[in-house]
Amino acid sequence: MTTVVLALLAWLALYYLACQIWPYTACGRCNGGKHTSPTGKAWRNCSRCGGTGKKRRLLARKP
Ligand SMILES: [Zn+2]
Repeated sequence: MTTVVLALLAWLALYYLACQIWPYTACGRCNGGKHTSPTGKAWRNCSRCGGTGKKRRLLARKP
């Protein structure tokens, strides 16, 4: 049981570090910040990421 907790803590520490070095991940709701129309010629900005196509990760610090 203790080993599981330790492994979890180690993973969390590594994940936290990774979030500081690489704070952004791709937005899962759009394709590069765009929601394209069926024709693919028109698009609107994604409301989740504001058209940037990136999303801050869970443990990343505020800018
Ligand atoms: Zn988006």
